[in-house]
Amino acid sequence: MEETNKCGHAGCNCIVKGDDKYCSAICQSAEGADVEELVCECGHPSCA
Ligand SMILES: [Zn+2]
Ligand SMILES: [Zn+2]
Repeated sequence: MEETNKCGHAGCNCIVKGDDKYCSAICQSAEGADVEELVCECGHPSCA
């Protein structure tokens, strides 16, 4: 069975498979930023 999780970015709707916390490096860096970005810019269809 494949484990799926929602991306760790608060504004991201992507589903992440396996042990990854974020769907992309964009989400990962956005979470670490001082300003909380609620609009995801990962470019995936589910966030467009
Ligand atoms: Zn996203
Ligand atoms: Zn994401």
